[in-house]
Amino acid sequence: MGDLLVTTTTGAGTTLTGAEVAAFRANVRGPVLRPGEARYEEARRVWNGLIDRRPALIAQCAGVADVIQCVQFARTHALLASVRGGGHNVPGNAVCEGGLMIDLARMKGVRVDPTRRTVRAEGGVTWREFDHETQAFGLGTTGGAVSDTGIAGLTLGGGLGWLAGGYGLACDNLLAVDLVTADGRFLTASAEEHPDLFWGVRGGGGNFGVVTAFEYQLHAVGPMLAGRVLYPFSRATEVLKWYRDFSATIPDALNTIGGLTTAPDGTKVVAMLVCYHGPPAAGERVLRPLRTFGSPLADEIRPRPYREVQTLLDAASPRGRRYYVKAAFVEAISDAAIDTLVSHFAAVPSPFSLLAFQQLGNAARLVPPEATAFYHRGAMYEWFVQAAWPDPADDDGNIRWARAVAGAMLPFTTGRGYVNHLGPEAVEGLEPIRAAYGPNYDRLVALKNRYDPTNLFRLNPNIRPTV
Ligand code: FAD
Repeated sequence: MGDLLVTTTTGAGTTLTGAEVAAFRANVRGPVLRPGEARYEEARRVWNGLIDRRPALIAQCAGVADVIQCVQFARTHALLASVRGGGHNVPGNAVCEGGLMIDLARMKGVRVDPTRRTVRAEGGVTWREFDHETQAFGLGTTGGAVSDTGIAGLTLGGGLGWLAGGYGLACDNLLAVDLVTADGRFLTASAEEHPDLFWGVRGGGGNFGVVTAFEYQLHAVGPMLAGRVLYPFSRATEVLKWYRDFSATIPDALNTIGGLTTAPDGTKVVAMLVCYHGPPAAGERVLRPLRTFGSPLADEIRPRPYREVQTLLDAASPRGRRYYVKAAFVEAISDAAIDTLVSHFAAVPSPFSLLAFQQLGNAARLVPPEATAFYHRGAMYEWFVQAAWPDPADDDGNIRWARAVAGAMLPFTTGRGYVNHLGPEAVEGLEPIRAAYGPNYDRLVALKNRYDPTNLFRLNPNIRPTV
């Protein structure tokens, strides 16, 4: 086996001998792929088709022992390392150029304890897989709104979802994590063990180690009243104002997403999506105004199993398309914000792009901002623009459009982004990152100094160590 040119944490190149690579391979139970080998091309691809990076090695970990080997190998050789959970992150932080990609996609174990109403799921599980296992027992917890998103990245950054009105964010339902820290140690963090670390992994992203398993609190989650109502774009200003007023006073059982999109026939529409997790008769009452306000183009709200609710947005975000996302938290939707969105969407260059408000949900907002590393409890919504297009020739126009909308929307936001939606520019610059962690940043730096002083885990919205 030949020598291998690799990138180090400083960005410089170095060489691993064939013997060093062979020894690493022998110590890892899962496949370790080099460029040119079968399945390498498939393994380096993530959800966003815009991401085209080539790691020197992709270690497809089979379990905790493999993750420990990867961390020790990366540390010994000062390798640039990235961590892949579900591979859904927009800036593609799961894939590094020239370094070691620690790929958890094969770690799919999920074990539900129906008596305690808890679940333990490994770091490569997606929400579709998680919901499949938990719903077999009529249980569930807050998860992402697109089913092939990973539980790992989403939970570590916070985790907005349909059930957050009643149960808080995904990270609010975490009971414990197993993780491998930068020194290769295997730790469990929970309210009792390493509570400082447990605080940090609930909103601090992948900064403190590779999480091999997550344990969550589950809840009884049955069929729910959910779906979308569509209105014509010609009435967008009026409908979005109505959505603003409606969503500002919702009960805990309800959560919403409202925005602008393009229907498959090419017609621009206003879409309001809802999920009512409570008694159906009460849901019918709560949702009646939404369905009878004006004359909707379509009303698709009906009782649905939770697993179906969790796939309602899948078609709008298929894997492999080219994506660019900008986002920020919003405390209240102003008339001027609505005017800004409507005027920009009138000029949207791609029928696959959308603008939306995703509601945090009542229970998510009751948690004090310093209680976990996720700071944004005062916000009512996360606002985001998701530009999407299939053709590389259209990259510039679509990215320019998304940046223009985001720039125009900035005055109507808190000026703070969501760790899970920080774009490539933000990942390179410190200020947007500091803003995303808010006043929790200094405490996160102290944790980083303690658990990752050499910044081994740096391909993320990075908390820079100061030691
Ligand atoms: P990956 O790309 O695998 O990982 C992203 C980063 O997370 C990695 O670079 C690494 O830093 C870290 N990471 C991943 N796995 C581990 C691990 N096991 N240990 C340590 N660090 C790890 N967010 C919401 O809150 N709610 C939503 O409803 C929602 N919907 C979305 C819909 C779409 C279409 C998209 C593209 C994103 C959505 N997001 C949502 C954002 C989502 O939370 C992030 O993209 C998140 O990073 C995805 O996690 P992942 O594991 O799939 O990503």
